Amino acid sequence: MKIKKILSMLMVGAMVFGLTACGSSKDASTSKATTEVKSNGKMVGISMPEKTLQRWINDGNNMVTSLNKLGYKTDLQYANNDVNNQIAQIENMITKGANVLVIAPVDGTALTDVLKQAHDAKISVISYDRLITKTSFVDYYATFDNFKVGVLQGTYIADSLKLKTAKGPFNVELFAGSPDDNNAKFFFDGAMSVLQPYITSGKLVIKSKQTGYSQIGTLKWDGATAQARMDNILSKNYTTAKVDAVLCPNDAIAIGVISSLKGVGYGTASQKMPIITGQDCEAASVKSIIAGEQTSSIFKDTRILAAKAAEMSNDVLNGKKAVVNDTKTYNTGSKIVPSFLCDPIIVDKTNYKKLLIDSGYYKASEVK
Ligand code: BGC
Repeated sequence: MKIKKILSMLMVGAMVFGLTACGSSKDASTSKATTEVKSNGKMVGISMPEKTLQRWINDGNNMVTSLNKLGYKTDLQYANNDVNNQIAQIENMITKGANVLVIAPVDGTALTDVLKQAHDAKISVISYDRLITKTSFVDYYATFDNFKVGVLQGTYIADSLKLKTAKGPFNVELFAGSPDDNNAKFFFDGAMSVLQPYITSGKLVIKSKQTGYSQIGTLKWDGATAQARMDNILSKNYTTAKVDAVLCPNDAIAIGVISSLKGVGYGTASQKMPIITGQDCEAASVKSIIAGEQTSSIFKDTRILAAKAAEMSNDVLNGKKAVVNDTKTYNTGSKIVPSFLCDPIIVDKTNYKKLLIDSGYYKASEVK
């Protein structure tokens, strides 16, 4: 229903846009002659962080599809998780005459200079999924409700362990995402808004005592780094005790943690897997949920986010204000960015079929 609504909004946007472009002599005189373009020849540069997670591949492809439908050219680049690579790719988009840049930063704090260049070239910037900070040159932000992602993860743990009524105590370990990603703190704070009262009351115990963000952060969301940290936690604290839940902020980290747990015998009839959260509904993690290893993930429908960012680009290119639903939460350090927050949904064994297969996000064969 939501998707249909957005698609129809995009189509209306496309029609309105078509009329505007046709009626504007300025557009006609400044657009470059090209055969690939349906309407006005304007180009949107799309800078994505990396390709190891399927989600970013989907985000990129969905953005291209949405923008092409609206008649824009696109330049989609992946930075291979390398900040300098991303800066060079964005500089190249500026040189090539991009009219809007849609950027999901590798390191949200590292694009200050290149965004100044974009600003000087009168290019609008939309921060995609992750906020770009340390700059005022971000026009809009299209993302999910990142605090809510954490709340859903924390609530999943609280509900699964029946923390409201069970006596406990239960052992939990905490993982957070990459410290250079503004989202990571939102996810963690959201989860802790649910879990902290139980930690304070002693119903949840963190045997490793690792609670500080500097200890629990996972640079570049790297699954192998998470696995190594979990190996260490298990060998130091859980030779006799057992882990009941692990807060994992995304699927890559969950997969690393699960490997570590399997390595010491979890996931068998005599030693159940703990509750393990995740995020992104990566195909490997959906398989893991079906197999009873990972317990939950968060569905962030990249089709909806991409359509939203395309709609924002279209509005900006037509000199219109984009529709937002948050004007308070996301601060770059020098500006609060008008944002649109899409809704994340918790997924587990009980609802993955309806949310992921019936909605057409995956074919059943892709998660078997
Ligand atoms: C995204 C997550 C993703 C993580 C690692 C975050 O900024 O919001 O969906 O799992 O980056 O790529």
